[in-house]
Amino acid sequence: MVTREGARWHYLDSAATAQKPNVVIDAVARALGPDYATVHRGLYARSAEMTTAYEAARREVAALIGGAEHELVFTRGATEAINLVAQTWGVANLRPGDRILLSLLEHHSNIVPWQLIRDRTGAEIDVCPLTPDGRIDLDAAEAMLSPAHKLVAFSHVSNVLGGVLDVARAVRMAHAVGARILIDGCQAVARVPVDVAAFDCDFYVFSAHKLYGPTGIGALWAKAELLGAMPPWQGGGSMIDRVTFAETTWAPAPQRFEAGTPAIAEAIGFAAAARFVKAQGLGAIHAHEAALVKRARSELGRINAVRLFGPEDSAGIVSFTIEGVHPHDLGTILDEENVAIRAGHHCAQPLMAALDIPATARASFALYSDDSDIAALVRGIERTLRIFA
Ligand code: PMP
Repeated sequence: MVTREGARWHYLDSAATAQKPNVVIDAVARALGPDYATVHRGLYARSAEMTTAYEAARREVAALIGGAEHELVFTRGATEAINLVAQTWGVANLRPGDRILLSLLEHHSNIVPWQLIRDRTGAEIDVCPLTPDGRIDLDAAEAMLSPAHKLVAFSHVSNVLGGVLDVARAVRMAHAVGARILIDGCQAVARVPVDVAAFDCDFYVFSAHKLYGPTGIGALWAKAELLGAMPPWQGGGSMIDRVTFAETTWAPAPQRFEAGTPAIAEAIGFAAAARFVKAQGLGAIHAHEAALVKRARSELGRINAVRLFGPEDSAGIVSFTIEGVHPHDLGTILDEENVAIRAGHHCAQPLMAALDIPATARASFALYSDDSDIAALVRGIERTLRIFA
């Protein structure tokens, strides 16, 4: 990575959003330039071609996670995908006395939509604790789950601690009590192989921008029978079959959930990102990031003032604090050294409260990260410690 001025830039904030490869930038530029036209309506050739490309994008994005195109809804991102499930499946299926199981490490976007639905439906929320090394404690989840649980919603990879969920086990446990399970794959899709068919999960959500794709688009994958039975969410063009003032009938899924002109160029960029990641190989990306995590944890662990969080084998994400230095001060000093980290609560305030800290510093990797980024981080931390001493 380089700064705008051409200096070396150590970008360690890929868990917030990934930098884009040229294949994605070029695909979006072509879609906004020579290929641009609307989808699903035009009778002229360019619009028909764009419609074909948009639907091919749906197929490619679904294939990346082992799903089929008729099971994939384009959304604005993971946040909107979770809200969609909460507002449609949740409202149709949750009643007073029903329970939802979340975990302590969830991102706010996998907490707040369920609170809104709790308040609308009278369902209750339970919170699964973590293991001492910061994973969702599936033994505890198993003990907590009851036939009253209608939904489990867990993240596949924690955006703060980096721990990887045993999705297949979580799915078996949820299904054993008759609950549906939603997996927040926002941090996972770019870091570990995902196969929704093998997992047998019910819903899987993610954002393109963490997968080397554009912002403004993401996806909800859902089992066809669930998606087919879900009522519409937003009304407007494209999501209807027939409209009269007396009555309107809906288009089948996934179109039923895509009201209005969609994010066309973004969908094309999303597919380019999916192709890019597939070509690199998620196994190889995971191995590359695992090696960086190992190295980072070992180098940071040598600095006395550093406290590391999360499991040893976290996926591409290392959270830490430094005794006597607020993470925000660390972030500011590191920026002077062209090292970009994230500092804060990472949209996981309940996790921060449970850890009894206001914030962490977080270094997160991607396939373009390398050892020189870790070396720069360590140099920056050592300089910070000298300043604070
Ligand atoms: N879940 C997790 C685990 C995340 O890391 C994020 C983004 N930080 C989200 C959900 C929300 O994603 P978006 O903001 O792209 O909708």
